[in-house]
Amino acid sequence: MGHESSVDDLARDLEEALRLDDKQADRAGDSAASGSDAESTHTAPSSPDSTPEPEGSPDTDSAAAGAPVTLTVHRPLLPAGVTSLLAGANSALDAIAERIQSGMAKRIIVMAGAGISTAAGIPDFRSPGSGLYANLQKYTLPYPEAIFTLDYFRKKPKPFYVLAKELYPGQFAPTASHFFVKLLAQRGLLLRHYTQNIDCLERAAGVESSLIVEAHGSFHQAHCIGSGCGKEFPQDWIRERIFSDQTPRCDRCSSLVKPDITFFGEGLPARFFDMIGGDFAACDMLTVMGTSLQVQPFASLVGDVGPSVPRLLINRERVGEGAGHPRGFDFDGRRGAGAVHRDALVLGDCDDACRLLADKLGWAEELAGLVAGAQAQTSL
Ligand SMILES: [Zn+2]
Repeated sequence: MGHESSVDDLARDLEEALRLDDKQADRAGDSAASGSDAESTHTAPSSPDSTPEPEGSPDTDSAAAGAPVTLTVHRPLLPAGVTSLLAGANSALDAIAERIQSGMAKRIIVMAGAGISTAAGIPDFRSPGSGLYANLQKYTLPYPEAIFTLDYFRKKPKPFYVLAKELYPGQFAPTASHFFVKLLAQRGLLLRHYTQNIDCLERAAGVESSLIVEAHGSFHQAHCIGSGCGKEFPQDWIRERIFSDQTPRCDRCSSLVKPDITFFGEGLPARFFDMIGGDFAACDMLTVMGTSLQVQPFASLVGDVGPSVPRLLINRERVGEGAGHPRGFDFDGRRGAGAVHRDALVLGDCDDACRLLADKLGWAEELAGLVAGAQAQTSL
């Protein structure tokens, strides 16, 4: 009985968390600005988890905590002797846009994390300190990650299914970032989109599933977790049960059926390992968006593209560089003469950065139309 009421509490709290996030998303929508040709002057709304710009961006005005987050195109002062693949253009982002427009980049890999979905109102539940993750701590879970562990799930599956119902795809609209990926795909420029997100929003944006690798799984399919069984169940089957508050059980062995979301301690989907080798060898431009690059093996993929493949990071803070990332980003040419400088950095909100890049590519109107269409649909 006590367990059931704690599940109700969890559901109530999840609703509250999602409502709060909706408000933030509305605010983000209000500020949707078309791209501008002036660098470093683009402002985005602040959000509670925004952090001031880190130091080391020579051309930026640091945003104070609580002030609007400025979209900053990093312009490094490269040490003498370092030649850059991205030099010549007005900024590294212009160089990226020029490569796409000129056809030099036509096998683009996008790697995305939670940052591309937060504006959709999806709580970043895997990050300590973020709304949903913190809220889960109030409940009977022994620790918040327990909801994503097989041991706990086998004993108490209900909290996970309640969470799944709240997060289930179809209730959120894709963001400008998802639609930017869609535009790349539409033009035949997307080699693959690797996402750490389980929200299926790239599918919702219309990116073909063959172009997507869901590195941490997704709700798209489900399997029985019974040992020696593993029967596959279609999305409709599990969706129906999750939405009618039933515990989905296998009709062959009566074990629990779990959506194919990668739990803590589980291996990544086979498709991830099947695809990375060929993809990263063939890639001619890498774009990393909205991820802290702290989860392996996803994080180390940044170093798997060729040494002269341009790499763009769009994120709220600098990540994936320095001693912990031997083949990671080098935005400032710190590896010195002889190393090829090819890394571009845009600090700020993923959607704002995608709008700015779309503007440079002449895709701004199309992108705005897709975003508006999706928002109109989900608000019906
Ligand atoms: Zn089974």
